[in-house]
Amino acid sequence: MNRLVVLGSVNADHVLRVPHFPRPGETLAGHSYRVVPGGKGANQAVAAARLGAEVSFIARIGADAIGREMRAGFALDGIDVSAVEEDAMLPTGIAIIYVSDEGENSIGLSAEANGALCPAMVQRHGNLITEAHTLLLQLEVPLESVFEAARLARAGGTRVVLNPAPAQPLPAELLALVDLITPNQTEAELLTGVAVTNETSAASAAARFHAMGISRVMITLGAQGVYCSDPAFVGLIPGFRVEAVDTTAAGDTFNGALLAAELAGLDFKAAVRFAHGAAALSVTRLGAQSAIPRQEEVAAFLD
Ligand code: ATP
Repeated sequence: MNRLVVLGSVNADHVLRVPHFPRPGETLAGHSYRVVPGGKGANQAVAAARLGAEVSFIARIGADAIGREMRAGFALDGIDVSAVEEDAMLPTGIAIIYVSDEGENSIGLSAEANGALCPAMVQRHGNLITEAHTLLLQLEVPLESVFEAARLARAGGTRVVLNPAPAQPLPAELLALVDLITPNQTEAELLTGVAVTNETSAASAAARFHAMGISRVMITLGAQGVYCSDPAFVGLIPGFRVEAVDTTAAGDTFNGALLAAELAGLDFKAAVRFAHGAAALSVTRLGAQSAIPRQEEVAAFLD
């Protein structure tokens, strides 16, 4: 059974372009307002599904139009949404995002329904976790629920993958349940205390992760690629050179693509190449889920 189960957040991203970030007390005219689907859990589920994986998604939305619209979008991407529950009291999670003319982001998040994805809800969908090959987790839902999912997965023989984003300190007991961790540089530094700037420092950070009981480590390094410390390969694997327009969801695309490729049976190097290709394509396009490519597009890019 090569199913991937993703447990994580769904956010409606409210994006407004502004000449500069508003200062305290300032009212500023912006433009190009859009509401677009986001949330790390949703982005990674969509990426894996578009890139060929069979995906079930465990998530919580509000009983509102935007949440239902996003859930319908996940289903159109082929995702099993039977465990995307509606919360009767809370709205769908939101992000308020200013994008300045310099291309910088300033983001305010409110978990809303994501915050009610409680351990009891994880248990309700425990069969999805134990019957899957792999569980993919991030940190935009309550930590005790991430923990519960990892525990159930371990007990059921399901592989646990953690993308530890957004960066936050984590208990050693949780990290000990992880088979593969995929931090970016900031997250790797926060969790290991090693400032990751190059291959040597990435190797030191990876050694700390191994000492925590994690057998596979992949530290993404933006345009530089990914540092891997894996039974199959140790070292830096560079990414593709592209004209980056918007790096939102590059990491989410990388994670979804890597697991889709591994579950399809690609060997380690081929899976990383596929993930680099998918993530590179995503940075050439605007937006989060709208930027995530399909399998055929990645195949054409890699040709
Ligand atoms: P984000 O938070 O923006 O989603 P991240 O910080 O989690 O991303 P990164 O380490 O920036 O993740 O990038 C993940 C992967 O995306 C890289 O390993 C690479 O494959 C690809 N990538 C990111 N930026 C670029 C770029 N400028 N050019 C080509 N590929 C890129």
